[in-house]
Amino acid sequence: MKKIKIAIVAAVLITACTFAFIFFKKITEGHPFIYPIENSILKPVDHIYEVAIIGAGAGGIMALQRAILNNDEVLLFAGNQKDISNSRGTFVREVDNIPGLSKYKRVNINLRNEILKDIASDQNFSKNLNFFKRSVVNIKQENNKIFILEDNKGNVYQARYVILATGMMDEQPVINGKIDTIFPYANNETIAYCLRCDGHRALGKETVVIGSDDSAANVAIILQQRYKLPKITILTHGKKPTWDQSLQKKLSLYRIEFVEDTITNILGDESSGKLEGFMFSDSAKLSAEFGFVSMGIRPNNQLAKTLGAKLDPRGLVIADQNSETTVQNFFVIGDLQADAMKQIYTAWNHAVKAADIINKRIRETGEGGK
Ligand SMILES: Cc1cc2nc3c(=O)[nH]c(=O)nc-3n(C[C@H](O)[C@H](O)[C@H](O)COP(=O)(O)OP(=O)(O)OC[C@H]3O[C@@H](n4cnc5c(N)ncnc54)[C@H](O)[C@@H]3O)c2cc1C
Repeated sequence: MKKIKIAIVAAVLITACTFAFIFFKKITEGHPFIYPIENSILKPVDHIYEVAIIGAGAGGIMALQRAILNNDEVLLFAGNQKDISNSRGTFVREVDNIPGLSKYKRVNINLRNEILKDIASDQNFSKNLNFFKRSVVNIKQENNKIFILEDNKGNVYQARYVILATGMMDEQPVINGKIDTIFPYANNETIAYCLRCDGHRALGKETVVIGSDDSAANVAIILQQRYKLPKITILTHGKKPTWDQSLQKKLSLYRIEFVEDTITNILGDESSGKLEGFMFSDSAKLSAEFGFVSMGIRPNNQLAKTLGAKLDPRGLVIADQNSETTVQNFFVIGDLQADAMKQIYTAWNHAVKAADIINKRIRETGEGGK
């Protein structure tokens, strides 16, 4: 009898542990902050890394993979929680516009975790990976050559080449003094930010575009031209529209109206993210099943500014065809690069160009630290 009891307790414990393990694996693998474990052995301060990559979103991860396969030593910073929360890529869920990616639930996070795991377990190349979940808070270049980077814990690193992949964040509507009213809907993809990524999700739905400038007007016009929506309205959220007469003519042609009142609430089910509409300061309501936010961007450009790299009027960093900025050996890739599509595949393209030109310079100058 005693043996049976022990066997039952053991079976229950094993089952509980197995479930706990599966659950832990599930939440950590797709989690932006918890996983992966950093490879945190600091090298001596006088060590010069070949390539430092700042940011581990779509661009940073592709730059990492290319540089590692090129056999270059990489110092990768994924950012701290604040950086991760302030980067657009963190909030990408299912991706329908790139072949093969629709199986991922949080594309950029899943790919980041997958590639870090693969490199860490690769006998030949893992030695080239130095990965930290830290923020780079300062950067300078000495004698137009070596870059000195400082992280948020006060550690200092040296690198010959730097790839900046810190991305940007969308401006969010402030509703009743806070920005998080919209998040339950954004997280469930009934509110979107990127026409090229999620425009198709509006098909057949009453839709709104929140914004007051040319780009909000253009988003509404393109959505209507493409998908012939049952209803589309622009919500300027208390601002005067700034689009010009020609855009207004087009809006009128497509019967796109705009509401200038301030949004005071979002109607719907926060837990499922089902959107039902918006409420305004005069208590009026507008029904809507889908929405876009088009209110501008906040580029994560502080480090580029510190180095004196040239920016465009929106604060994006200007680069040449190899993704090199106006500061020699300092590259910018992904959303932060000026005059480029804000897409994952664009970030990948920038990343490969930057990593390959860096590898070429390392090969030609014989500067490699290995
Ligand atoms: C809701 C949504 C859906 C989208 N869907 C699609 C889609 O379907 N298809 C598509 O192609 N694109 C999509 N995009 C666009 C895509 O997410 C971006 O183009 C892409 O993520 C840009 O990559 P990035 O590397 O430039 O920046 P991000 O992927 O945003 O990565 C930035 C990285 O920089 C790090 N960081 C920031 N500051 C610092 C610092 N000081 N130190 C260290 N690290 C730092 C962050 O932690 C993060 O790892 C979508 C965007 C949004 C908002």
